Amino acid sequence: APYPVLVEGEVVAGFGRGGKQLGIPTANLATAAVEKALEDMDIGVYLGWAQVEGGDVMPMVMSLGWNPYFKNEKRSGEVHIMHTFDDDFYGKTLRVAVLAYVRPERDYTSLDALVTDIKEDIRIAHEALARPAYAQIKDEPFFRR
Ligand code: ADP
Ligand code: MG
Repeated sequence: APYPVLVEGEVVAGFGRGGKQLGIPTANLATAAVEKALEDMDIGVYLGWAQVEGGDVMPMVMSLGWNPYFKNEKRSGEVHIMHTFDDDFYGKTLRVAVLAYVRPERDYTSLDALVTDIKEDIRIAHEALARPAYAQIKDEPFFRR
């Protein structure tokens, strides 16, 4: 895909797989947004920037997978923003600039292994987003206020 891939959509309720309980909440993008913008992309984990409802632009990791709610016939885009929010933001507009592919999806035999991998994804994302070419995407007009 030609990066950055820009996606804008409403935050919808997920399948309740307990991202929040693991300390890694993922804001699920509405299906329409995922289908339109992320259609040709590989399943897996990506890094980039995210903005909730015209707020600050923050680092994110996104998992592009298959949505169990739609019997795995549709894709799900789940965005973990590396920021601690005071409140949930269901129903709000989420803008995401996807900048790079991190890794394919894996099957996990333990929750521990999953959390370890996500923490590594987050570390990699922080490092990559510090590159000038990635950092400057924060100032794109796409992230209007
Ligand atoms: P769901 O299954 O409904 O997606 P999660 O446990 O994955 O539930 O939590 C996701 C929700 O948590 C988001 O929709 C958002 O409203 C809220 N949230 C709070 N902080 C964050 C964050 N840092 N990144 C993503 N979502 C967050
Ligand atoms: Mg979620």
